[in-house]
Amino acid sequence: MDPERYEQLKQEIIAKGSNTYKIINNNLFVKHVIWKRVIKDPEHKRIIRDVHDLAHSGKRRTLDKIKELYWWPGMMNHVADYIESCDSCQRDTKPKHQNPLNPIPISGPWEIVGIDHVGPLPKSKEGYQYIIVAQDYLTKWPIAEPTKTTNQDEAIKFVRDRIMAVHGSPKQIITDQGAAFIRHHWDQMMELWKIKHVTTTAGHPQANDQVERLNQTIVKGLRRTLKSRKECWPDILQLILMDYRALIQDTTGYSPSQLLYGKQIRLPIESDFEARETEEDWDKTLKKRIAQLDLIEPNQVKAAENIKAKQAKMKARYDKRIKQTVKFQVGEQVLLYGPKRTKLETTATGPFRIRKANKYNSYELELLNGTPYLTVTGTRLRHYKDRSGNVHVDI
Ligand SMILES: [Zn+2]
Repeated sequence: MDPERYEQLKQEIIAKGSNTYKIINNNLFVKHVIWKRVIKDPEHKRIIRDVHDLAHSGKRRTLDKIKELYWWPGMMNHVADYIESCDSCQRDTKPKHQNPLNPIPISGPWEIVGIDHVGPLPKSKEGYQYIIVAQDYLTKWPIAEPTKTTNQDEAIKFVRDRIMAVHGSPKQIITDQGAAFIRHHWDQMMELWKIKHVTTTAGHPQANDQVERLNQTIVKGLRRTLKSRKECWPDILQLILMDYRALIQDTTGYSPSQLLYGKQIRLPIESDFEARETEEDWDKTLKKRIAQLDLIEPNQVKAAENIKAKQAKMKARYDKRIKQTVKFQVGEQVLLYGPKRTKLETTATGPFRIRKANKYNSYELELLNGTPYLTVTGTRLRHYKDRSGNVHVDI
């Protein structure tokens, strides 16, 4: 309370008496259910600091605690301002806003490929512990191979031998930020092979959803097939993929093998139902095959349309659910939140200044002295409130 107003109030009470105020030891008290001491500026600053800084409790709890003993006008705002500008609390409050979904534009078969690792799994006798998984974004054709590590050498070899050599060089590879995909040698090879490498943070937060679903299918298939001989998983990995390739996919409306070869791959069980073809049937078989081949491209176009429709639906649902992305302006101060290594580690670094705002909610940061720092996605940032700029509470 303003000191002048405080003294004036005291004089009034001495002169007229009051039911709601009283004076004890020259201090003013007010009755709000119980008697509380009225606080004169600037003592309220010390009170807020002492109560909040003890355990950095939230606004409600800090205010309740203060209200048990004290009262002054505007206390709610003062507490809110103090806590919002508390450095420790800001560093410990992660941003909750998320990027809107930016679906991957679909193009031809084997032009966009998602890659991911699964594992660790029980170690096989050959020493395999992981699976590297790739999936074509159009046909949904899966490729997978057991690996001993998740390091870049095995990942590069996989791209070269199992993707490029068989299906041609993809235009784009999408991965998460796994260790294999953020190393210098991986970048070098991508550049050499003219493959654009996109990681899932660069504005396509859900880009690798499809591959992650495939991973779950693979793991579920392995678990259900193997039962007790878990370490034998590399032996049946390819058979699980075989089944997947013949299965009609929700997103496309076709099986991967229909979209890639124009026909279903033949599963072992089907030989039971086949009659042996005679020479007269060959002509018919040939005509049937030509008809199938004629349909590959139209089916691929239809599959792309189906994927697009599904993506649009997913985006609408997702964007409605998420907390709207916070936009940051050039010059604003922010804290950067990163993955923490231990539970008690503070997650935030900074403050930094926004240097430039890019597409897809990505921002270039600079140090407060103007030195360029990192480019990061906006969902890792929160506005930083500097207490020195705070008009109400300045301690
Ligand atoms: Zn705090």
